[in-house]
Amino acid sequence: MRNFISELEQRKEAGLYRVRRQVSGPQQPALIADGKGLLSFCSNDYLGLANHPDSIEALRTALSDTGLGGAASHLICGHHEAHQRLEERLAAFTGRSSALLFSTGYMANLGVISALAGRGDTIFSDQLNHASIIDGCILSRATVRRYPHGDVASLGAMLAETDGHKLVVTDGVFSMDGDVAPLRALAKVCREHNALLVVDDAHGFGVLGPHGQGSVAEFGLSEDDVPVLVGTLGKAAGTSGAFVAAPDVLMDYLVQKARTYIYTTAMPPALALATCNNLDLIGQGGERRKHLRSLTDRFRQEAAALGYSLMPSTTPIQPIMVGDNQETLALSRALEAQGLLVTAIRPPTVPEGEARLRVTFSAAHSHEDLDKLLQALAYCRPVQPVPASAQCSAIDNRVV
Ligand SMILES: *Cc1c(COP(=O)(O)O)cnc(C)c1O
Repeated sequence: MRNFISELEQRKEAGLYRVRRQVSGPQQPALIADGKGLLSFCSNDYLGLANHPDSIEALRTALSDTGLGGAASHLICGHHEAHQRLEERLAAFTGRSSALLFSTGYMANLGVISALAGRGDTIFSDQLNHASIIDGCILSRATVRRYPHGDVASLGAMLAETDGHKLVVTDGVFSMDGDVAPLRALAKVCREHNALLVVDDAHGFGVLGPHGQGSVAEFGLSEDDVPVLVGTLGKAAGTSGAFVAAPDVLMDYLVQKARTYIYTTAMPPALALATCNNLDLIGQGGERRKHLRSLTDRFRQEAAALGYSLMPSTTPIQPIMVGDNQETLALSRALEAQGLLVTAIRPPTVPEGEARLRVTFSAAHSHEDLDKLLQALAYCRPVQPVPASAQCSAIDNRVV
């Protein structure tokens, strides 16, 4: 039998051991974590809808009409008119022919990728794609070829030398880097090589595009350009669940073949109705997105001026690159000592040697919240050429 205890010890020594914090009360920037009040900069609730009073009211009202449980899978007797309504709303909102609900984005990627590619087919996957895409690729049993991050020329060359059914899959906004995939060029190369393009817009949906329809809309791309669009409802949409939007024929096919759609209980129907309400809030969320952008822009300027190493991202995902696992943990702890919650992201979530603090912004943050983050960052500022880590470990030792 494997020595699980020693594996856990090794993880601790390598700075890779993960712990959960227990949150009390609602998800919002002022968070109670392990009983302690912290100002959080690490949630994916980009628009601040996770604790919006209108949504809570919408859920209460819906519950009295629909009851609570989903009770069965969609294909048995779980497909409620509330789900149907949300699917229609999502299709209209994203400008697609139809949409299909999944219980989570993780399950949507597993189901969609493994349904649309199989043994003998080839999947081309961006090197920095989310874990759920990687797992979907494995589950499909197709040949998987990873292409260098965002490198459309390399992808084109790989597509040119491959015959048979080809599927290309990419994050719309990369979850740990915050950069946006070159979707226009990807759509073009996929068309040239007759490959099916799947975009997972978990972090673009609600945030990018003229009305928050996501990264694909930001580039003005249609269903012809990007036939398969995956989105989660647990991030900017502020509830839970996920969807796939696609042409009718693919939707029909997914209902027949996507096992993570078929063999699981439908989400509580009231949640689907509350999510319809949040789609309205996303559509009307111009001011929220503008505020989010102003927080992001100001952070980029001021954190860079403090000497931190930022990444080329214009989205609310603004990682501070550190590199070493322990140094990243030390910076995270130093910030926590000053009342801030910014989680350290380490391998295998990011490549070896690229551990970072993943700072994220929400429209629920105020500029005063951002002041606090910047002040704390200034307190453990890297003084060149001394790395950030040395500064922050020293602070860490003093205050913790
Ligand atoms: C979070 C995330 C998912 C998973 O979505 P859930 O609804 O949280 O399961 C899928 N893809 C990407 C890129 C993500 O960041």
